[in-house]
Amino acid sequence: MRILFAWHRTLAVAIAGALFISVVAQQNPYDKFRDQKYSNRGYLSEEDEFKLAGEVHKQITQKFRLIQNSPLNGYINTIGQRLAQNSGRPDIPWRFYVVDDKSINAFATLGGQVYVHTGLLAQARSEAQLSSVLGHEIGHIVGRHGLQNVKRAQKYGALAGLAQIAGAVLGGNTGAGVGELAGNLIAGGYLMKHSRDAEREADYLGLYNIERAGYNTGGMIEMFELLNEVSRSQPDALGSILASHPPPAERAANTRREINQHMAGTDQRGISNTDEFQRLKAGVSAGQSPRRTRPRN
Ligand SMILES: [Zn+2]
Repeated sequence: MRILFAWHRTLAVAIAGALFISVVAQQNPYDKFRDQKYSNRGYLSEEDEFKLAGEVHKQITQKFRLIQNSPLNGYINTIGQRLAQNSGRPDIPWRFYVVDDKSINAFATLGGQVYVHTGLLAQARSEAQLSSVLGHEIGHIVGRHGLQNVKRAQKYGALAGLAQIAGAVLGGNTGAGVGELAGNLIAGGYLMKHSRDAEREADYLGLYNIERAGYNTGGMIEMFELLNEVSRSQPDALGSILASHPPPAERAANTRREINQHMAGTDQRGISNTDEFQRLKAGVSAGQSPRRTRPRN
């Protein structure tokens, strides 16, 4: 009898243990993104994605002032390209732009086009923190989130059918068709409005991206803690795109959990900061206006 009781107790402990482990495992919202394969299947082809990205970029240059010919451009491009080479789409033409805007913001559109606001550069305290933002934006492009948004907008009748879009892009009458489509995407705010899960997926992809590129993964936690601080103390400083992401405290917790469960020690090694970051940041923070020209189209 006593043996049976002991056996039952062992079984109960084992079941409780298994339940506990499964609950803990379920608690990691990144599990659903593990071992995902990404491709353009079901979306625009890569060729069409690049053409549409080019037209969207023209719209962006009309809406935002881009900094050009500044040391900042070379610096952001070097970091961005290093991350991109360690991403799930190393072979596409990546472009990293600096937007002259004080709000703390960054965004990605399609086909390797990534934009960072000077406001974010001024707030970031290390190169690893800045890299975590770039890694997240690269993650959106690897995850085809912009393409998903195009498809969703099309599904709800907000845009011409996907076949029509592809036709317009491929048709060769570049100007009108694709330009109009790009204009609608930007004006309607479709392109960068991602679901919360797409944001989590971009965080997940970004975290592994910065780790592969040699950065200290703790930089990502620090960046979310910084955003958390800013969202409390000066919420207006957050750009609209970053403001629509999951709460920064949740993003910090997700990152910390992932590092603890799957990437132990990566927040203790790797690049945290560089002299170049400190130098360029000093210029941005002091409000020294980098040499710039407004692009014309
Ligand atoms: Zn995002």
